[in-house]
Amino acid sequence: MANLRKIRIDGSRGEGGGQILRSALALSLITQRPFAVSRIRANRSNPGLAKQHVTAVEAARQLCGGKVNGASLRSQELEFFPGRVSSGDYEFDVGTAGSTTLVLQTVLPPLLACAGSSRVSIRGGTHNPMAPPIEFLQRVFAPRISAMGAELEVELITPGFYPKGGGQIIATIHPPSKWRRIEILQTSLPRVTSAMAVLAKLPRHIAQRELDTLAGQLGLPQVQCHVVEFDNCLSPGNVLYVECTDGRVTELLSVCGQRGVPAEDVAARLGVEVHQYLRGGGPVGPHLADQLLLPMAMGSGGAFDCSELTSHTTTNMEIIRKFVDVGFTVEKRSGGGARVQVSSAKPNS
Ligand code: ATP
Repeated sequence: MANLRKIRIDGSRGEGGGQILRSALALSLITQRPFAVSRIRANRSNPGLAKQHVTAVEAARQLCGGKVNGASLRSQELEFFPGRVSSGDYEFDVGTAGSTTLVLQTVLPPLLACAGSSRVSIRGGTHNPMAPPIEFLQRVFAPRISAMGAELEVELITPGFYPKGGGQIIATIHPPSKWRRIEILQTSLPRVTSAMAVLAKLPRHIAQRELDTLAGQLGLPQVQCHVVEFDNCLSPGNVLYVECTDGRVTELLSVCGQRGVPAEDVAARLGVEVHQYLRGGGPVGPHLADQLLLPMAMGSGGAFDCSELTSHTTTNMEIIRKFVDVGFTVEKRSGGGARVQVSSAKPNS
């Protein structure tokens, strides 16, 4: 067990959501620094640990055989004492429709820091609001991790939607032999390339109305609008996506359909997000920006232009700096975006 000074974290800082805990767990495993976090998810309407977060804590503990105090449902305080991380085969089950991709967000960085490869199966929700949908990990996040010299493949085995969940993803993780610095800077303006409506056990007209509205809003030809239907899942579900590219980098913006919200309103909400992304100019969207910071800092660093600097991103910088000595330089750009430079992290004294 590590014998280093415990890092204290206030979970209500900045964004005040679950990402503070997930980043702290990942960094604790990598640096072997124990931590204590208080006021967990204080800025959420349901503060404290939800099932997804308890699963993430347990997953982190299993990876390293560490010790944890306070990992119970709705707990707002937790202490974590890491042990040495082992690569290998792991299986985690959220047990509800809680996000599988956010559990992966926790275990991926430490497994990328191991010498050996890993295979991680996670059961729960695969398409959740406020979390990366599986297609985002596959098309947007994994290619950036590969650009850093690692290999990440994320397979959708079974889709899982709220309330029953029951989905499964499998991630295959090959750490890099040598980390590569990445640069994702704006060279040309991103443009919309296609739209996709994922539909599970719901009438097809929902997807069609969403795509018709989006096509009108974004000037997208019908041939670039697709419907993907799943029927091998327990609960019905719907997610609407718009794919953009600047010719080198793919972004996928999404909004989850919600019972009681008309298809046209779901599409209009996504249309607004797409316009905001395009105005921001940077190829890196608001979510990819916060998710790239940790792997970049643990790897060889780099720089990116993002369309928006969210409080998820700035809060994540703050948490990463608590564990390692890393430089984040932010230069605001016109249109609401920013250029973010990330140095390669050194251990904190
Ligand atoms: P909750 O919001 O339910 O409390 P949480 O607190 O566990 O969840 P957050 O701290 O809000 O989680 O972090 C959510 C993570 O999901 C962030 O990394 C964010 O970038 C990512 N995310 C949210 N929505 C999307 C999306 N549409 N596409 C890609 N990633 C997303």
